[in-house]
Amino acid sequence: MKADPATALNLVMLGPPGAGKGTQAERFAQSHGVPKISTGEILREAVADETALGRAAKEVMDAGRLIGDDIMVGIVRERLARADAKAGFVLDGFPRTVTQAAALDEMLGTEPLVVVDIVVPEETLVRRLASRRMCEDCAHSALPEEQGCPKCGGALVVRVDDGAGVVLERLRVYTEQTAPIVEFYRGRPNFRAIDGTRSPEEVQDAICAAVATVSGGAA
Ligand SMILES: [Zn+2]
Repeated sequence: MKADPATALNLVMLGPPGAGKGTQAERFAQSHGVPKISTGEILREAVADETALGRAAKEVMDAGRLIGDDIMVGIVRERLARADAKAGFVLDGFPRTVTQAAALDEMLGTEPLVVVDIVVPEETLVRRLASRRMCEDCAHSALPEEQGCPKCGGALVVRVDDGAGVVLERLRVYTEQTAPIVEFYRGRPNFRAIDGTRSPEEVQDAICAAVATVSGGAA
């Protein structure tokens, strides 16, 4: 809209399942007044709206295949072109491949991009994921301190799909997929690795501090 693209607050958040990435992306979006763009959500939206890309995505998913880079990049491109993303955004779940990361660079041109990697050791993730709870009514992922669902008041139950074997496999897949993306970004001045073992508040502060230093105080 009106914001100077040179000061846009564009953030990519990387981090394994259990690192609290979704929560942090949500908090950052709220505190900085930028949209949180999660690929799962915009994919569902595109399918529901029956856009050309949404229809293509549905065809791929109905055939039991994974959404490829072309469709994913197209859907993200359309979302980032909307007015509310002009002053910045937080991306959660994108890029998932180096091809997608390169496409994002191309979309942004000279606009700055901050990349935050939330780092948590595997033992901690396994412990967190194995005890992770969700709302049995609305599937909200509960924070450790929550006693009931903050969204609908439903009961919080341990996620049945999070047994240790499943957790380790998810982490292995994540690391395998993400390692090349971390390598793609690591050498850049706007890349920050954040210690994700601390409390959600401390992690949030660290992310804000990182963004403030790399974007010259625009945060
Ligand atoms: Zn709920």
